[in-house]
Amino acid sequence: MQVIRLEALSDNYIFLLYDEQNNVAAVVDPAEVEPVLKQLAQLNADLVAIFNTHHHHDHVGGNQKLIQKFPQVNVYGGAEDKGRIPGQRVFLQPGDRVQFANRVGEVIFVPGHTRAHIAYYFPPQTTNEPGELFCGDTLFAGGCGRLFEGTPAQMVESLSKLRSLPDHTRVWCAHEYTLKNLQFALTIDGNNTDLQKRIHEVKTQRDRQEATVPSWLGVEKLTNPFLRWEQPALQLAANSSDPIQTFARIRGMKDMF
Ligand code: ZN
Ligand code: FE
Repeated sequence: MQVIRLEALSDNYIFLLYDEQNNVAAVVDPAEVEPVLKQLAQLNADLVAIFNTHHHHDHVGGNQKLIQKFPQVNVYGGAEDKGRIPGQRVFLQPGDRVQFANRVGEVIFVPGHTRAHIAYYFPPQTTNEPGELFCGDTLFAGGCGRLFEGTPAQMVESLSKLRSLPDHTRVWCAHEYTLKNLQFALTIDGNNTDLQKRIHEVKTQRDRQEATVPSWLGVEKLTNPFLRWEQPALQLAANSSDPIQTFARIRGMKDMF
């Protein structure tokens, strides 16, 4: 399974999963249709699945047109998103599995950004291979999604699930927000040398107009303030010794940043 990153709208990423053996593709969160059709034409591949993480328009905007073009396509989303994802056919429950190419993806229920948000995690098949995590707007490179339909406690639980995955996991998040996220992180975790190093690298990447997605989950664990609620520096910045309150206050500061 090959993952191809496509740019969409102003700062969205769409991920196309390509099964070279069978010449079929799946797409994660098609914000719009054109980049997907263009890539499919280039591969001369059929689209067999749409994996949606949540119902927001910048994640499902291309669903309807893709279904028209590929009537057989299976549209996956969280069971709780019933009625909100155009053309949804498969209503996934926590712990369900999805299959694509020779890979099996685990469905992780991650409410917080929305109440129905799910993530797809494809574990590695060999020891050297990375795992692939498609986490929508829950975990971002250097940040996390805003809380529209969930509580801080829910989001901490959701992010805890993602944080428990192996370091050698590629984080395919849906937006290019990394630099701004890390600039915020620096204001509350400025002595973190891993963070200092990362922001330097990300600045260089953005100066060259390179994508910063995917990132490594191992790097996120060391530098992303929204995975570090028990770190003394962050609790100090949030003026709290409670992990959930620390998370909530940091999320609140980011909303104002
Ligand atoms: Zn969203
Ligand atoms: Fe989004």
